[in-house]
Amino acid sequence: MGAKSQSSQQLCCPGEWDVDKLRRWLPDPVVNRILTISPPSPKKGTADHLFKLAWKWNGPERIRSFIWLVAHETILTNTKRKRRHLTIDARCHQCNFVTEDALHVLRNCSSATIIWNLLQAN
Ligand SMILES: [Zn+2]
Repeated sequence: MGAKSQSSQQLCCPGEWDVDKLRRWLPDPVVNRILTISPPSPKKGTADHLFKLAWKWNGPERIRSFIWLVAHETILTNTKRKRRHLTIDARCHQCNFVTEDALHVLRNCSSATIIWNLLQAN
C-alpha cells in the first residue's frame, strides 16, 4: 500500500470523509473543497467499477462507448501500435512525447491540456 492511499485512508472511512480530522488539519476552504470530491473506495479504480460507471453515464452512446474503451484500455495508441508491430514509433505525434499511451492522449498531452482548459473555461 503506497503512502498516498495510506493518507487518504486516514482521512476517510470507506465511502465517507472523516470531517473532524480534515477540519483539525486543514483550513476550512480546503476542507470544503475536499468534501465536494467523493472519498476513495476500495472498489473505485477497479475495471468492474469503471465499467459500471461508463454504462451508468447518461450521455450520447458514442461517448459512453469511448469511455468504455478507455476504461478497458483498448484505445489504439502509438504505444500499442508499436507493441503490435504496426509502427516503429511509439511517440505522440502531437507533442513528440516519448510514449503515447491512453493517459497521455487523454490527459497529459499538450494538445489534450488545451482542450481540457477550453472546456473548463466554458
Ligand atoms: Zn502528446
